[in-house]
Amino acid sequence: MTVVGRLAPSPTGALHVGNASSFLLAWLSVRQKRGRLWLRIEDIDSPRVKAESIDATIEDLKWLGLDWDCTDSEDEAVFRQTQRLDRYRGVLEQCVSAGKVYPCVCSRSDVARAASAPHDPSWELLEGIAYPGTCRQRPADPNGLPDKFAWRWAFEDQHATWHDQVLGIQQANPARQLGDFVVAKADSTPAYQLAVVVDDHDQGVNEVVRGNDLIYSTYRQQDILRFLDWPSPTYCHVPLVVGPDGRRLAKRHGDTRVRQLRREGITSGAI
Ligand code: GLU
Repeated sequence: MTVVGRLAPSPTGALHVGNASSFLLAWLSVRQKRGRLWLRIEDIDSPRVKAESIDATIEDLKWLGLDWDCTDSEDEAVFRQTQRLDRYRGVLEQCVSAGKVYPCVCSRSDVARAASAPHDPSWELLEGIAYPGTCRQRPADPNGLPDKFAWRWAFEDQHATWHDQVLGIQQANPARQLGDFVVAKADSTPAYQLAVVVDDHDQGVNEVVRGNDLIYSTYRQQDILRFLDWPSPTYCHVPLVVGPDGRRLAKRHGDTRVRQLRREGITSGAI
């Protein structure tokens, strides 16, 4: 079977050494198996996405020497999530009709307040907070909904398990340890968790190599995949680049943007 992977940058800023590391590993993994590799621009996260960052990201990837099989030449457009909103909405409708998602009117601060309330200590919260299901309990009254509401995925209260190529067997009860999550935002834009599953499926991606900050999102994506009855790719969550203090690379460590290092005369090979 041909391995199909992807580079999926979110152009919310310039590419830095941390992203470059994950992309290099994703690229290497596919290229050593003579597979196919797509470039997918994950640009639905407005307003954080900046148009100029898309071009800059593509340029930085090329300068690093990474290539992909979906070119950005004028003949063949780059795969951009903002061009696929109708497709995501179609899948969302399927989830709505099946009752897998529910409308959520909680604001960010409602969620933060509810999530900080005492919870059952027998369940470790994987991301420090978990949406407690406030709107799930609300009786559904389609006419009583305000103009703006998000759609949230309802996890079943059950044990989930999956295998990571680097980190081994992963197991948790996502309903208790992560909580229901947003699949479409209040401005009606489909959210990352849904878009990524639809894209990986539509692009025939069977290998996901990405930073291990997304490890818990895999429970979410696996649950959506199972519901849609789509095959699961293999997952490989790679370590994030950290600074000398052992913390995830960030502004506090100085300017680690690829283009800045390039300006300083550092070669792509050295990076
Ligand atoms: N766009 C995401 C990021 O840049 C990656 C998503 C994924 O690999 O699933 O962090």
